[in-house]
Amino acid sequence: MSLRPATLGAARRAAAKRLAAELGPDATPALDARLLVAAAIGIAPDQLLLVDDRELSEAERRAIDAALDRRLAGEPVARIVGEREFWGLSFRLSEATLVPRPDTETLVEATLAWIDRTHGRDKPLRIVDIGTGSGAILIALLSELPQSIGLGIDLSEEAARTARANAARLGFADRSLFTRGSWAESCGPVDVIVSNPPYIESGVIQTLDREVKDHDPVLALDGGDDGLDAYRAIVADLSRLMRPGGAAFFEIGYDQGRALSLLATRAGFVVAVHTDLAGHDRVVELIRPN
Ligand code: GLN
Repeated sequence: MSLRPATLGAARRAAAKRLAAELGPDATPALDARLLVAAAIGIAPDQLLLVDDRELSEAERRAIDAALDRRLAGEPVARIVGEREFWGLSFRLSEATLVPRPDTETLVEATLAWIDRTHGRDKPLRIVDIGTGSGAILIALLSELPQSIGLGIDLSEEAARTARANAARLGFADRSLFTRGSWAESCGPVDVIVSNPPYIESGVIQTLDREVKDHDPVLALDGGDDGLDAYRAIVADLSRLMRPGGAAFFEIGYDQGRALSLLATRAGFVVAVHTDLAGHDRVVELIRPN
């Protein structure tokens, strides 16, 4: 008598259909539906298809509806399920952390490429991640660098706590330290600095997608009037933080490559710009000459 989906598979397909109809062409309805339904019933997303025929309880149906309503109101999937995959690892999120973006994997790749060129991955390196958020960048690097250790710092105590918990859950607690603080409090000099600092122009934040402006922490986005405040501050201090021969890698907005390159060149660094999969400038590499 009811049209309510009876099985998990039917619920997943109905959810995908609704998301496709209401969220428009940029949406990823099938993937969203899979992740939301899996989280709502407490099952791993890759196990979901195996139980497609299972009947739903009323409580499960309500949990799926609640997750779907949040998504349709503009909340990102990662916020609803509370975690996001980055570099093949699953990171828990909190209100104080950005959702890790696929574009940010470009920063991890550029850093590893430099390490491959200069030291090799088995060398014990010291890494600092400034504005670590969920810890995604630092932990991804540690997962590829078995002898290295890292410090992640963040202005938000809650972010530092989230990152610390992620490191523990993923098995990197013994090689990482996460503290609340600013770049200036990071101990130096180290071999590698990575950072995805806030770089959005203050005036632009209200024009971003609602997924970002309503759900990502403004502290992690707002880079001041021209978006470059954090880079200026960190670059000014970089020679103290980084040993000669070391390198720093900054994520940037697609139109900030020139500005940061200029800033860094003037400060005496050797600079390279890396593009992301879409071909946009995404990372600036700063090498401190020996
Ligand atoms: N890339 C993020 C965005 O899409 C911004 C991240 C940042 O400011 N560090 O909004």
